[in-house]
This record gives sequence, structure tokens and C-alpha cells, in this order.
Amino acid sequence: MVVRMRVNRSKTGKRRSHHALRAARAVRCECGALRVPHRACANCGRYNGKIVLDVAGTAAREARRTKHREKALRASGHEAKKEEPATK
Ligand SMILES: [Zn+2]
Repeated sequence: MVVRMRVNRSKTGKRRSHHALRAARAVRCECGALRVPHRACANCGRYNGKIVLDVAGTAAREARRTKHREKALRASGHEAKKEEPATK
């Protein structure tokens, strides 16, 4: 880089004055969980007092899918990962 293009300390400092990170903000939901402001609550699925996400339904569907996948895996002859006891 040629000297003509060199950025002085003042300009570098002014540019970097906007580089600081800010702490993430969280607000308390009416259900008691912490949530990101202006986003639906992941715990109860509410936004502005109204239920907008089917949290219980999503969890139930995910449990069903996991069960189904494990069943298919067992049927294909794969050994399911067994939980080894900590002490024998
Ligand atoms: Zn909530």
C-alpha cells in the first residue's frame, strides 16, 4: 500500500469506535421465561399475549418422529446406542 492510502490513527479509531459488542437483551415473558424482545417466546409460544406457536404440538411431533426413526433403525438391523451404566 502506498503512503498516500495510509489511514491515520484518528481515522482508524473513529472506524473502530463502532466495533464494540453489546450484551444481548432479554425480557421476562408472562410465563416467567426469559425471551428475546420482539420475538415469540420459545417456552410458551406467546407473542403480545396471544399464542402464536404450537410449542406443545411441536414437542409431541418431534418425540413421535424420534421414536419412529429409532424404530426404523432397529428394523434395519442397526444396534441402538445403549446407555452404559456409570458404575458396574
Ligand atoms: Zn413465555
